[in-house]
Amino acid sequence: MTLAAALLLFGCDRGVDARRIAAADGAEWLTYGRTYDEQRFSPLKQIDRRTVAGLGVAWWAEFDTDRGQEATPLVADGVLYVTTAWSKVHAFDAAGGKRLWSYDPKVPGEAGFNARCDVVNRGVALWKGRLYLGTLDGRLIALDAKTGRPAWSVQTTDRAKPYTITGAPRVMKGKVLIGNGGAEYGVRGYVSAYDAQSGKLAWRFYTTPNPQGVADGAASDPILRERVQATWSDGAWKQSGGGGTVWDAITYDPKLDLVFVGVGNGNPWNHKIRSGGKGDNLFLSSILALRPDTGAYVWHYQTTPGESWDYTATQHIMVADLTIGGATRRVVMQAPKNGFFYVLDAATGKLVSAEKYVPVDWAQRIDPATGRPVEAPFARYQKGGVSTQLVGALGGHNWQPMAFSPKTGLVYIPAQHGRGYYADPQSFTFLPGAWNTGVLRRFDGPNTAPSLVRPAALLLAKGELIAWDPVAQRKRWSVAFPDQWTSGVLATDGGLVFHAADKRFAAYDAASGRPLWTYPTGVQAIAPASTYAIGGKQHVALMVGAGGAGGRNEARQKGRLLVFKLGGQVKPPAYPAAVTQPPLDLTQAAPSSGDGDRGGRLFATYCSACHGAGPYFPDLSRSPAILEPQGFQTIVLDGALKAGGMAGFRRFFDAAGAEDLRAYLLWQAKTGPGPAAPTAPTHAQ
Ligand code: CA
Repeated sequence: MTLAAALLLFGCDRGVDARRIAAADGAEWLTYGRTYDEQRFSPLKQIDRRTVAGLGVAWWAEFDTDRGQEATPLVADGVLYVTTAWSKVHAFDAAGGKRLWSYDPKVPGEAGFNARCDVVNRGVALWKGRLYLGTLDGRLIALDAKTGRPAWSVQTTDRAKPYTITGAPRVMKGKVLIGNGGAEYGVRGYVSAYDAQSGKLAWRFYTTPNPQGVADGAASDPILRERVQATWSDGAWKQSGGGGTVWDAITYDPKLDLVFVGVGNGNPWNHKIRSGGKGDNLFLSSILALRPDTGAYVWHYQTTPGESWDYTATQHIMVADLTIGGATRRVVMQAPKNGFFYVLDAATGKLVSAEKYVPVDWAQRIDPATGRPVEAPFARYQKGGVSTQLVGALGGHNWQPMAFSPKTGLVYIPAQHGRGYYADPQSFTFLPGAWNTGVLRRFDGPNTAPSLVRPAALLLAKGELIAWDPVAQRKRWSVAFPDQWTSGVLATDGGLVFHAADKRFAAYDAASGRPLWTYPTGVQAIAPASTYAIGGKQHVALMVGAGGAGGRNEARQKGRLLVFKLGGQVKPPAYPAAVTQPPLDLTQAAPSSGDGDRGGRLFATYCSACHGAGPYFPDLSRSPAILEPQGFQTIVLDGALKAGGMAGFRRFFDAAGAEDLRAYLLWQAKTGPGPAAPTAPTHAQ
């Protein structure tokens, strides 16, 4: 091949392609997990165990949103790209921090209603001079990487259904892959591939059967007919679509030419309601291996057959070569919500090993012969029973990416401890567009005792950064944190692991876990850091901003990007003090003739998922809006505050319902201390 031909073939416009991603020397961060294997390990080592003490802020930026920040900063050709909440994109000069351009897809505020887990976005994909963005309202948009101008935009979802996109697209072989979320509300999951150049749909793969029993004309048709349909029985899935959304992990292996897709939980969660308690319900809670060119099915591994607890397998999937029993095995690794760390053969999906990485009691072990969990007798909360099992719906590990260091041979897992509460509801009616888990929710009212009481001791939750040996399947070191919800992880050849928890960004010795450096971030950071080198200097970039499915324990502050280097001296200003809502003067309240007990049930069904979980969303029992009925209805029924994410609820209840709700909230205001935390399973993603 001539040089000219080679330049043509590989592109000479400095666009990102597979060759550049594979050759990445660590100076750039070109795709979500840095490289296709998504190990999030950087070969950069200017910042190391010795020098890290001198790490300081080189430059920083603040954004126009105070919701959760989950993006991985990408760096290519001297430009750093991040997304913020509400699916906005910002491009910066990676050396000095000058903002080059911003792009706002103008997501309608009411789309936030479908995003119980916050209006977050985990980042963009780069390919051949463009970048690709998934938006909260289901669009996939191609932007010119130099200018931020849109090249094309496609709607990847049915706008009439409560789909959302929070995940980062991935690009391989000229195709952009994107999934979606919304399983708690009632949608049917799928992953789509679009031509990167034209935006034309190349293929789509559904993760659950078509509820009408007809073919979709999709890549999934043959396997749904042959293997999947028979694993579902009669139940509410025929109304809901069954769930199984692909909201995060999409990992490509160029060596095997397979793309590994993580599939989420069922809808409703409750297997008895969803599928009559019968069948494995493929491909819920599974890792799927597909061909990137066609979407053709190759293999699957279901982590949680008959899923009934929101045990998604959407969590980060990484590919690695491990030496097991003296032989090199190419494996995929995942720490899904169910609490077991899985090592699978990447070519076949066959189980290599699976062990508990956090305390788990819902299952004793994974049977090595069948690959199925050996469940505890209480786990399925049979009629009248309550299961207070380890782990809960937030999972032993959520979306926060892990990292793997080939130097230490350890996987660094941002893990979580916490119990779930599961019980059958008194009855179940599928409510289109609403939260439909089929699991009892806590409700109370002036004349109703709380329906589900949680002993405080069972709620003890914590976070844990675990250094996990995936060959021996055991913990090598760990650090525990009071806050359960911590950040994603970065590992480097400087012998370091970067991770944030409890409002501190820290570097640990990758081999021993010894803390070497910390920086107070002011508010919680949950995003994973990335690293790059420019002008001979290694930088570490981190998005700061609390939120997401579990980050509701603090008031909202503006999102920030912090970029560090050795000798950095910049001092971003402290955040303003959080404003706390004072109690209402109830002598100013218009009395309500509503039924507060009925209002309590409405609150549990429609409101508590957001407004019952800490100071992140307003405490409605302290909101002046409840003092009189007209203004309250303008917000609750007509959507006066929809631009901020508070959609109108007229499709769910009427003026009488709104007044019942107001009666309940006035009762809460009087009896204080505000709405109690919802039952644990309502924390979910
Ligand atoms: Ca979920």
